[in-house]
Formats: sequence, C-alpha cells, structure tokens
Amino acid sequence: MRIVLLGAPGAGKGTQAKKIIEKYPVPQISTGDLLRAAVAAGTALGREAKSYMDKGELVPDSVVLGMVEERLRQEDCKKGYILDGFPRNTKQAEVLDGMLASLDMPLNAALSVDVPFEDLMKRLTGRRTCKACGQMYNIYFNAPRKEGVCDKCGGELFQREDDKEDTIRKRLEVYNAQTAPLIDYYGKKGILKSVSGTGSIDEIFCRVCNALGLQ
Ligand code: AMP
Repeated sequence: MRIVLLGAPGAGKGTQAKKIIEKYPVPQISTGDLLRAAVAAGTALGREAKSYMDKGELVPDSVVLGMVEERLRQEDCKKGYILDGFPRNTKQAEVLDGMLASLDMPLNAALSVDVPFEDLMKRLTGRRTCKACGQMYNIYFNAPRKEGVCDKCGGELFQREDDKEDTIRKRLEVYNAQTAPLIDYYGKKGILKSVSGTGSIDEIFCRVCNALGLQ
C-alpha cells in the first residue's frame, strides 16, 4: 500500500493516516513531523526550515526532497507507506514520481480529504497541544475540562506557532495556490480518490476505507 494523502491543513490527514496504520501497519511519513523533529533537534536543516514554517510558507523543495528520499529508502518502506503532507506542490509530485519509478514502487492511490474553508479555520485556530505529553485538544470541538490544562497529565497546553490566525490564513492560501493543483495532477493519472472530511473521525474513516478498498 503506497498512498499519498492530500488535503488542506486541518483536513484531518494525520488523524486518518493513524487510523489506516492501526489496520495496515506501514510507516506514516509526515514531512511536517519530520521537519518539526529537525527544528526541535536544532539541526542545520531544522534551523533553515523554521523560518518558513513559522510564516506558514512551504519549506524549499531542496530541503524537503532530500529528507523524503532518505526516508523512503529505509527498509520499513518496502512494505508500503502513507505520505502525509507530501507532496505539497507539482515539483515535489514530479520528483516523487521519478523517485518511485526508479525504485519500481509506483503509488497506488492519492486520497483527497475535503473540508470547507470555515471548518478548517476553526479546527486550526482551536487546536491546542500538551507541552508534556503531546495530547491534542480543540477549544471548539474537544475542549479540555480546565482551560489551558491537559486532562491526561495536567501539563500546560500551547498553540503551535503556525496555528495562529495570520499564519493559518497564509497556510490555507499556500494550499490553494500550490497544493490544490495536485488534485488535478493525480486525477489525470487516474489514481485520485476523494472523500468528504466532515463528520466524526470514524465516519470519515469508513469513507476512507471504502475509497481505498480496505476491508
Ligand atoms: P503540516 O504539519 O503538514 O501542516 O506542516 C507544517 C509546515 O511544515 C508547513 O506549513 C510547511 O511550512 C512545512 N512543510 C510540511 N510538509 C512540507 C512539504 N512537503 N513541503 C514544504 N514544506 C512542508
């Protein structure tokens, strides 16, 4: 199973990727997570990426492509993978196609998770994460019992720098301009599947399974 997940920031790609790999244990490769790990580790790559991420812009292809290629060459990707948040523009999609052709591992599907703009704004601006244990909340849909405090461990909740309103608008603009054209790109290749990303996580997952033909 080699799948690309497409969808705007906040569409729930990461959540659905986690549900898929509970059933089909393949690596979930999230370029956002890889970049955040590099930022946290303070590597040269992380320092370069941070300035773009904080502004809601795409990190340059030169940084992201090398990182993805290295990851895809690891042994655990032989059984498949889910790419979450990559590719983000046509150039990345073309390079990915070339990489996979040389490895003889073409994509099986590109799954687009579609959510209306207003819902995306609430999902993203409402998002809070626990500093201590990483548990995620949403102040509109899934609020902690006590404001600013994690239900699970009592840790302090924070808002990701790139989840602040101005940055979110920028991220959504970048998505429309650079990433949304990939829907057409994969449509033309005949591997695009689309599902509505509104409703409960389980409802959406059910649509995802149907679209991908998972049992
Ligand atoms: P995400 O968690 O996928 O929303 O990614 C957070 C941020 O990381 C994005 O706003 C970009 O700045 C950067 N990023 C993640 N994936 C990519 C990618 N494939 N290409 C360029 N930048 C990326």
